[in-house]
Amino acid sequence: MGAAGSVPAADATAEKEQEIYAAMKAEFAAQDGKEGPEAVAALKAKWEELTGITGTDMEQLGATKLQAMQRGRLARKDAAKLGKNKEFDSGGRLQKDSKDSDDFGYLTYDACPKWNTDKDSKLYHKSLMAKTCTPELFEKLKDVKTATGYTFSNAIQTGVETPHLGVGATAGDEECYEKFAELINPIIAGWHGGYDPATMKHPTDLNPENLKFSPEQVESFNKYVASTRIRAARNIRGQPLPPGSTRESAAAVETTLKKTFEGLEGDLKGTYYPLTGMSDEVSTDLQSQGFLFQKPKTTNLLTNAGAARFWPESRGIFHNENKTALAWCNEEDHCRIISMAMGGDVKDVFARFCSLSEAVKGAAEASGAALMWNETHGFLGSCPSNIGTGLRGSVMIKLEKLNENVELLEEICDGFDLQPRGSAGEHSAAVGAKWDVSNKQRIGFSEVQLVQKMIDGITSMIKIEEYLAGGGDADGAKAMAAELKAAASA
Ligand code: ADP
Ligand code: MG
Repeated sequence: MGAAGSVPAADATAEKEQEIYAAMKAEFAAQDGKEGPEAVAALKAKWEELTGITGTDMEQLGATKLQAMQRGRLARKDAAKLGKNKEFDSGGRLQKDSKDSDDFGYLTYDACPKWNTDKDSKLYHKSLMAKTCTPELFEKLKDVKTATGYTFSNAIQTGVETPHLGVGATAGDEECYEKFAELINPIIAGWHGGYDPATMKHPTDLNPENLKFSPEQVESFNKYVASTRIRAARNIRGQPLPPGSTRESAAAVETTLKKTFEGLEGDLKGTYYPLTGMSDEVSTDLQSQGFLFQKPKTTNLLTNAGAARFWPESRGIFHNENKTALAWCNEEDHCRIISMAMGGDVKDVFARFCSLSEAVKGAAEASGAALMWNETHGFLGSCPSNIGTGLRGSVMIKLEKLNENVELLEEICDGFDLQPRGSAGEHSAAVGAKWDVSNKQRIGFSEVQLVQKMIDGITSMIKIEEYLAGGGDADGAKAMAAELKAAASA
């Protein structure tokens, strides 16, 4: 990246150039060891003072003399970049991908990574990506890339370098679903219970009246459920997704979403709060109440996919006054729309979700943007686990007895196509026996069908919890789960 050649100077005599060179060298030496925005700002200020040239991007400065001066420092910085697992060598190499940032490097794999197949190893490559990406498929796709420059290596990096992930592949833009279909379609089938975008069409139903929530269910939800949340991913057509974004594209997405949010009315009307400049007090408060996302950890799929670059730039949260309608900007997807409320009134939360979904679509279109969507994949997004409806409907529920046997809880959830998460989001612990239980599938079922599966599955789990509380054992609980499942599908 950047122009080669001598240092450009306003007064370009050779002598003056040498002076600037010496002064800049001293400034680099003064900043050596210091990383990040402060060092860059100091270098930039010095550069402007010496040359009178303003608006230079220090990364673009790239003149050979400066590069040589920086070499020692940059080499160390590269080694410290995120993107590569330090515990084993995947074979991935930095190749100055234009999407690289100060803190993250995209890797290129020349050969198919060697998958760790030892299930007992903490570096076991667990993902559907690793199971699908054979040396043959790798050879076939390794040089394929999309129009925005998202490569096959980019798509698999997070699953290679973060072996414990379940999906392990990301889309950097909408075109990935077509270009990398031979990798992504089997992952979609594996995650969503056999759905095949090559032959199937994805249904849509955003009519809350079609949801069945009996008075008995309402009563048992009121007793066990602390809060309810329904969210979905929405992305803007024509812009790269967070794993493949640039600073400029992420800023453009934020601008479009701000306009979209301004178009929301009635009880959806609210305010957008950018993460940049938000006080720690406010962000911690929003996070602890489950409203706001956290900066992705290195174990999360986002980090090694490059989706946490230039954090917190262009990220933010929108919410209405009472925080029942919310939207995230530029976390895992361009936008996550969220409907939330205390208690277990799933129908009411779903009704608001549906109006938010329609309103965001309408407002985005009114501001000149279309959403990523097609008949076979439904809504598209960064992770193949989140396409179709992109909907995750969850209840925060206290399951004291099931909590004593987490393996049993997981097995029972799985039987009802539910996914348990801890009380502070994915990969967190369940504090005080509080679990976030949601539908696992997102595609091949309509929004109504998925929320219905969640309601019916939770109803059964409450019955099992009560059976255990009355002295029942694990085997009895499993038998009961099988019976309830058979009755539901009869
Ligand atoms: P997602 O990726 O689906 O948005 P996360 O697992 O990252 O979900 O969780 C986001 C936040 O939402 C977390 O703080 C989580 O505890 C909170 N949350 C999820 N479900 C509920 C719920 N039913 N009630 C309250 N908070 C919830
Ligand atoms: Mg998430």
